[in-house]
Amino acid sequence: MLRALLLDLDGTLLDNPMDRFIPAYFQALTRWVADRVPPDALIRELLRATRAMELGDGSGPTNEETFAAHFYPALGVDRAELEPEFRRFYAEAFPSLQVFTRARPEARLLVGAAFAQGLDVVIATNPVFPRAAIEERLAWAGVGVDSFAYALVTCYEEMHATKSDPAYYHEILARIGTPAPDCLMVGDDWQWDMVTAATCGIPGFWVSDAEAPPTTLSIPLAGRGSLADVLRRLAAGTLATVPGA
Ligand SMILES: [Mg+2]
Repeated sequence: MLRALLLDLDGTLLDNPMDRFIPAYFQALTRWVADRVPPDALIRELLRATRAMELGDGSGPTNEETFAAHFYPALGVDRAELEPEFRRFYAEAFPSLQVFTRARPEARLLVGAAFAQGLDVVIATNPVFPRAAIEERLAWAGVGVDSFAYALVTCYEEMHATKSDPAYYHEILARIGTPAPDCLMVGDDWQWDMVTAATCGIPGFWVSDAEAPPTTLSIPLAGRGSLADVLRRLAAGTLATVPGA
C-alpha cells in the first residue's frame, strides 16, 4: 500500500535544464566571491568536493561536512571566512537564477493531491546543495516549504550519501520509517531515481517524455510518462501498481 511519495526536484517537479542552469550558477557563484577566490580554482574544487560527496556510502559525516573537508583546505581559504559569503549568495543572488527554470503546473497539483490522500511526501533531490538552494527551487516549482509540510527534504546538511549510492535511499526509509515497497520514487534520472531506488526495493515512476532515449528496462517500473500521468494515476488510485507484479 502506497504510504510515501518520493519526488525528485530538477527535471521532475521543476523544468530545469542543467546544461543552462549549471553554467549560470557557477558564473554567479564565482563572481560573488571573485575578490577572495580565483574563479578557476573555485569551480575545480567545487567539482572535486562534489565528487567526494558522491563517493560517500553513508558511513561518513554529512554531505556538508564531506564537502567542507575537501573544499576549503584545497582552496586554502578559511571555512569561517567563506561560508557566510556563500550563505549570502544563496539568499541574495541565487534567486536570480529562476529565469533558467520553468514551473510545471502539475507539480503543485500533484503535491497537493498527495497530501490530500494522506501520503507522506519526501523531496528526494540529490543532496549536494544547501537547504536554502533547495527551498528556493521548491518555491520556483510552486511547491514551497511554506505551503507543504514535507516529511523530509533531502539537503546536504542532513544527508550522509547522494543518489550515487543506495545509502541515500536507505537513509530516507529510516528517517520516514516506511518500508520500501510502500514508497514510490518519481523522477527523471534513470540511474539515480529508478535503478538506485530499485536496488533498495523502492518502485519507481520514470518521468520521461516520448523522445527520451530508449533504455533497457531491466527493473519493474510502476509507470513511465509525464508528471500529468503521475497525477492521473494518483487520482485513480493506481499509482503504485507495478504491472505484472
Ligand atoms: Mg532530476
